[in-house]
Amino acid sequence: MDSIDETLGEIPLPPYITAEDVTFALRAISVHAAQQWPDGSRCRNDRAPHPCRLHRWGRRILTMRGLTDQRINTMLADQEAARP
Ligand SMILES: [Zn+2]
Repeated sequence: MDSIDETLGEIPLPPYITAEDVTFALRAISVHAAQQWPDGSRCRNDRAPHPCRLHRWGRRILTMRGLTDQRINTMLADQEAARP
């Protein structure tokens, strides 16, 4: 699992980040959240060691948009609250 993750490398980022990319990134981060396992943190979606590729991709997108960790956490909380 770990070696495949490393072989594939990072998911390419789009040349510029649109509002839609930000929505996808926020969704990726919340879907690929950390879950505690006996051997440490793993992705609750694909069980790769946390942060998994999609989680890292989402974080990189938001960082490229100039968002701080604090702002990202606020946006994630807003997204959770907006869910029906
Ligand atoms: Zn994941």
